[in-house]
Amino acid sequence: MKKRLTLTFPKRTIHMPITYRLAKDFNVAANIFRAQVAPDQVGKLLVELSGDIDQLDEAIEWLQANNIGVSLVNREIIIDQDVCVHCGLCTGVCPTEALQLDPQTHKLTFGRSRCIMCEQCIPSCPVQAISTNL
Ligand code: SF4
Ligand code: SF4
Repeated sequence: MKKRLTLTFPKRTIHMPITYRLAKDFNVAANIFRAQVAPDQVGKLLVELSGDIDQLDEAIEWLQANNIGVSLVNREIIIDQDVCVHCGLCTGVCPTEALQLDPQTHKLTFGRSRCIMCEQCIPSCPVQAISTNL
């Protein structure tokens, strides 16, 4: 199973080899979508963890026991179809090709399962057709 999470690291845990420990100790793979980490500052990672459900839960407990904040990502991208003019500008910034123009209809399509919530598409839209549910 997979869980998409935001991890928040206090200053002193920023150098922990998180992905290595998750893989070695829990057999959990971490796919990092976005990282905001700077020396001597709080760090944030947007990650997708994959593994056995029990081991995933154990891994999350281990993260929390090490003072790493864990929150489930429930935010979703919303495309307002009444506002979208299908210009395709958002497709150019989408790193996962969740946003694409249909080659036949030239209309915007959104593959929600491919979206990693990087939110790069939001400021790219000239008519503010893209927002989030939260
Ligand atoms: S949030 Fe990121 S991944 Fe999702 S549709 Fe927008 S640009 Fe693509
Ligand atoms: S940038 Fe905005 S208007 Fe253009 S295709 Fe994307 S959502 Fe539609």
